[in-house]
Amino acid sequence: MEQHVRKHLTFLTFIWNKLWPNTVSADRPSQGYFDPEPVALRPDLEPNPVLPSSSLFSALYDFRARSAEELSVSQGDKLCILKEEGEYVLARRLTGEPALGYIPANYVTRINEETSQQPWYFRGISRNEAQQLLLSPPNQHGSFLIRDSESSQGEYSLSVRNHAKVSHFRICKGPDGGLYIQKGCPFPNLEELLTFYTVNWKVVQSPLLQPCIPKTPLVRDAWERPRSEFILRRKLGEGYFGEVWEGLWKNMVPVAIKIIKQADMKAEDFTKEIQNLKRLKHERLIQLHAVCSVGEPLYIVTELMRKGNLQSYLSSLEGRALSTLHLISIACQVADGMTYLEEQHIVHRDLAARNILVGDNLTCKIADFGLARLLKDDIYSTSGSTKIPVKWTAPEVANYRTYSLKSDVWSYGILLYEVFTYGQTPYEGMTNQETIQQISMGYRLPRPSTCPPEIYGVMLECWKGNAEERPTFLALREKLCSIYRRLHNSLS
Ligand code: ATP
Repeated sequence: MEQHVRKHLTFLTFIWNKLWPNTVSADRPSQGYFDPEPVALRPDLEPNPVLPSSSLFSALYDFRARSAEELSVSQGDKLCILKEEGEYVLARRLTGEPALGYIPANYVTRINEETSQQPWYFRGISRNEAQQLLLSPPNQHGSFLIRDSESSQGEYSLSVRNHAKVSHFRICKGPDGGLYIQKGCPFPNLEELLTFYTVNWKVVQSPLLQPCIPKTPLVRDAWERPRSEFILRRKLGEGYFGEVWEGLWKNMVPVAIKIIKQADMKAEDFTKEIQNLKRLKHERLIQLHAVCSVGEPLYIVTELMRKGNLQSYLSSLEGRALSTLHLISIACQVADGMTYLEEQHIVHRDLAARNILVGDNLTCKIADFGLARLLKDDIYSTSGSTKIPVKWTAPEVANYRTYSLKSDVWSYGILLYEVFTYGQTPYEGMTNQETIQQISMGYRLPRPSTCPPEIYGVMLECWKGNAEERPTFLALREKLCSIYRRLHNSLS
């Protein structure tokens, strides 16, 4: 009987091994059911000896090194533990840049390399994410996965889809390391536990038919980077679609990370727009570095601009000390970046000082191009929405939603006003509705006292009612740069 079932039901080997523990199945090595194969290290970490899988760990949380002896890790990083010392372990990081150091012992958990490569094992996803994933196509009735437990470190949960419902079962760890769903029914590993419940599925309320299929990355190329390569360090700000953090890429490169909930955008739009962002490269445009689009939330990683957005910068102590020449330099840089977008036939749609970022030496770069349109389209085009940046918006956009490079030129005129008032809000004291009304009756913002008349002339050109009569960005750049040169020469 034993020989017969072993031969014909080989996929249930774990169960047969449990029933007849003293015999060894033909397809198993004689050591029992633990795989003796050592796990090879990545080539760039050689010449270290090969490690047994028992020394492989994963970081449970982000940890920031506080001294040279400590090792910074991100949640999910793979680690090799070399020795234990009190409450600390000496670890070698196997993901990202190789490095060695101490981290608190409770920040790591042992991983079974065999398990981590199983199609049903989903590391680092939450109960909600598991639920969403299992309920979305192509997953169906009987799809299942095992994930790390959110509340009990070192334990797991089994999530199973039963038609339109997902059930979750805690997989507890006994004092001897055995894993169980039902007390008194432990298994040495997840593989065996699953095999048992595949047969005895009534306990988990649904047959375990197929492992959950993960979401495919939205961007499948070199721009897609694993989340573990990034460490979030400090929140820089918050926009409509999420937070922006200062971070470190591979522990070395300072970056800005925009964290977006995918619910805020359509996947196909995102893919298309990222193609746009990748193709746009100019020194006056914020450079895209990477994207993490596997799982949620989505990371958009760009270069870091240390002085933040232009609107806040202008009203800061440092900003208020800027001379007229400095202000014209800012205007020229933005016109330069917009000339590039104009050549590429890209409409920004949200040109404003809040979307210009400032770096060292008064370097200014345009941000939120492309994405502005992608992310804000629905919101901005909803009639009556209070989200429309009305005070920056050309009349034809406010009335008919007809965006064009010429409507960007109008917004550029408002941006000039912000620059020459050191960050004041335009049409102060007027509501959005009043602004639209006043503009349609021919009202235009007055010349700020600190603004040279010639520059104010440029603003008025940008605010021509007839879009066709507004200058191009190329013409604006030429004009402003020649004013800059003239003023610069007269001062030196
Ligand atoms: P919204 O997205 O609603 O238009 P926003 O453009 O201000 O608002 P985000 O682009 O999300 O929002 O940026 C929020 C803030 O984070 C910015 O105002 C800026 O201060 C900071 N920030 C954004 N990107 C960077 C970056 N690359 N470098 C430095 N700081 C940044």
